[in-house]
Amino acid sequence: MRINFRRFTAEEGASAVIVAIMLSLLLGMASLTIDIGMTYTDASAIQNVADAVALSLGRFLPVEDDEAAIAEIIALADEYAAKNGYFGLQAEDIVLGDLVSGRYGALTINLSKTSPTYLAKIIGVEEITSRKSATISAVPAGSVTGCVPVGISASAYETAMATGITEHVVFKAGGGGGESGFFGYIVIDGSNGNAKALLDTFKYGHDGEVCVGDTYPVAKGNKASVAKKGVNYRMSLCTHFPEDGGCTYQHYVENCPRVMSFMIYEFIDSTTVKVNGFSAFILEHSENEDEIQGSFINLNVPYTSYTSDIDGGIYTYKLTG
Ligand SMILES: [Zn+2]
Repeated sequence: MRINFRRFTAEEGASAVIVAIMLSLLLGMASLTIDIGMTYTDASAIQNVADAVALSLGRFLPVEDDEAAIAEIIALADEYAAKNGYFGLQAEDIVLGDLVSGRYGALTINLSKTSPTYLAKIIGVEEITSRKSATISAVPAGSVTGCVPVGISASAYETAMATGITEHVVFKAGGGGGESGFFGYIVIDGSNGNAKALLDTFKYGHDGEVCVGDTYPVAKGNKASVAKKGVNYRMSLCTHFPEDGGCTYQHYVENCPRVMSFMIYEFIDSTTVKVNGFSAFILEHSENEDEIQGSFINLNVPYTSYTSDIDGGIYTYKLTG
């Protein structure tokens, strides 16, 4: 019996080598493609976690430069991350933004995930690390619920801020020259602006949302007692810090009736104003009728997509990176 051994020619041998090289290259590329695909999935998953954690922390911004407050944020970040399937968040994974006037207005969450490769091990890549981050920033809120039917002009607000005095500030009604300017009654509740309707809205706050860009009529006529009655009513409802006579700018509870959000506006004609922003007061007893005394405070409100160009101290938040 004869067996024919077929000999590879030199040419065929070279082809086999080329095929072998091509195959390993293809396999290498395929393995990388698969592992890169999986890494991409990892990356988008941790990006989602970073965004979710950042958004959940937004309501704490701006945060005081206070160890306990920051520790609380880090603990919550860890909790939210774990809820989203990311474990082992470290304190250093949270980077605070710039310190402005004793407060941090932004923070960045840096997350990473290292996954072992499957096929890329063939070409010596054992693992791939994906890094993602999300930055959340406090921004002046452009919509507020619970506003009182009162506002100050943007210029009066700027003047008040320019003095640097934010405590025990007095605003007088109408055109009179208060110590820090004057306020106007604005009809935000859809009523005809009668004193009773204004007083109710002052007492309880408007249950609808007032947004930047909204236009409202200025209330007409003498509303002399509205501020006095409204302030007294709100002052009386405070049950906090009884030993110190209730909430003051030094210590207050954010949802206390003494905390009052009001508009910052500009006149677009003699009877109409446009809302430009918002500010907040902790009310104090006023000496005189038709005047409002309080101290400016910072307030964090729930998320709203509306933002304001005027930083009146009421903040919402948004993802900025
Ligand atoms: Zn209170």
